[in-house]
Amino acid sequence: MARPTTFPGLRTQVPLAPRTTLGVGGAAQRFVEATSEARLVGALRWAADRGLPVHVLGGGSNLLVADRGVEGLVVQVAVGGRAAVEVEGGVEVRAGAGEGWDALVGWTVERGWGGVECLAGIPGRVGAAPIQNIGAYGQEVGERLAWLRAFDREADAIVTLGPAACDFGYRHSRFKAHPGRFVVLEVALRLTPGAAGEVRYAQLAGHLGTDAPTLSATRDAVLDLRRGKSMVIDPADPNRRSAGSFFLNPVVSTDAADAVATAAGTDGEAMPRWPTADGQKLSAAWLIQRAGMAPGFGEGAVGLSTKHTLALVNRGGATAADVIAFAAEVRRRVHDRFGVWLHPEPVFLGFDRPVEALLGDA
Ligand SMILES: Cc1cc2nc3c(=O)[nH]c(=O)nc-3n(C[C@H](O)[C@H](O)[C@H](O)COP(=O)(O)OP(=O)(O)OC[C@H]3O[C@@H](n4cnc5c(N)ncnc54)[C@H](O)[C@@H]3O)c2cc1C
Repeated sequence: MARPTTFPGLRTQVPLAPRTTLGVGGAAQRFVEATSEARLVGALRWAADRGLPVHVLGGGSNLLVADRGVEGLVVQVAVGGRAAVEVEGGVEVRAGAGEGWDALVGWTVERGWGGVECLAGIPGRVGAAPIQNIGAYGQEVGERLAWLRAFDREADAIVTLGPAACDFGYRHSRFKAHPGRFVVLEVALRLTPGAAGEVRYAQLAGHLGTDAPTLSATRDAVLDLRRGKSMVIDPADPNRRSAGSFFLNPVVSTDAADAVATAAGTDGEAMPRWPTADGQKLSAAWLIQRAGMAPGFGEGAVGLSTKHTLALVNRGGATAADVIAFAAEVRRRVHDRFGVWLHPEPVFLGFDRPVEALLGDA
């Protein structure tokens, strides 16, 4: 019997730019919105049976889509549902992968459950949160992950993974290392009832002016700080079309960090640097600024945010090629000045060459 050539609700040539926060790129050759787990797994199996490449889309806030569009099937995860159960020493919050991340944070803060209040204002959906182990103001989602359920496309089975199996690191996880294998269906967080807000970040402490803020005061302060950097999506903000931080903070050896500090000639001002297991993490935003690119740098359709040197902004009418050309220019200037290559944080979708080749690494 011939296989059906279509899947219920399958659409073709669906523009992806409006489904991403950067607002650039072409269309999905085939597109399905999956509002239930059954539909999501059904669509993944349908594509596998036909040998079609599959790409998973959440809220499109960490994506750069190619101008030529994306071949195969794009599945947008819209599986909803929230629940909370009491567990020993805490509460376990379970959310469908298609729930909005920031709304989930607001829901937990309202109920007095601490642990993710500093991750307020991060756009996107719950299922993407573990992919790059989202983090901000001293918290990372991986610290609070109890387990997640995912469809393992290699094993053709639903699996439950604990935090150790996710291999979380700085903006990194097993899912980021093996893109496409696991599609997250549901995430469970272990939170602390009655907790005070967690203040691990000097800028947040300064803004709050107290060591023991409530959860909601902490969330509000985080949102305030983020608004000041155009790091929440606001339709009225001229910096709104971005993917957040475009570059990761580079991790270099201690000797290399010393060399950067010398090259920067910091005039007594300490260069931001944090020890890690592999060396020293530097601030990409600081390097960009010190390489001569101030907020708002760039003449064309793509430039630096006027509020934050780490965000590349589509000022209107930009293409993915414009974003890549500008990102390559920023990286080259930082490399020329400090000998450090910055690496992009967003996922590149639909390109015919690896990211390094697109950005012109040495
Ligand atoms: C203004 C702004 C501020 C930001 N601030 C922060 C910040 O402070 N900290 C931070 O860490 N990030 C930040 N980000 C980046 C982004 O919001 C996060 O990475 C977010 O988790 C992406 O979610 P999404 O649903 O939009 O994912 P998408 O952009 O749609 O997808 C990102 C990646 O995750 C994969 N993916 C999505 N859903 C699933 C799923 N269910 N299963 C498997 N894979 C999946 C996609 O295939 C893709 O590879 C910011 C972005 C913006 C625009």
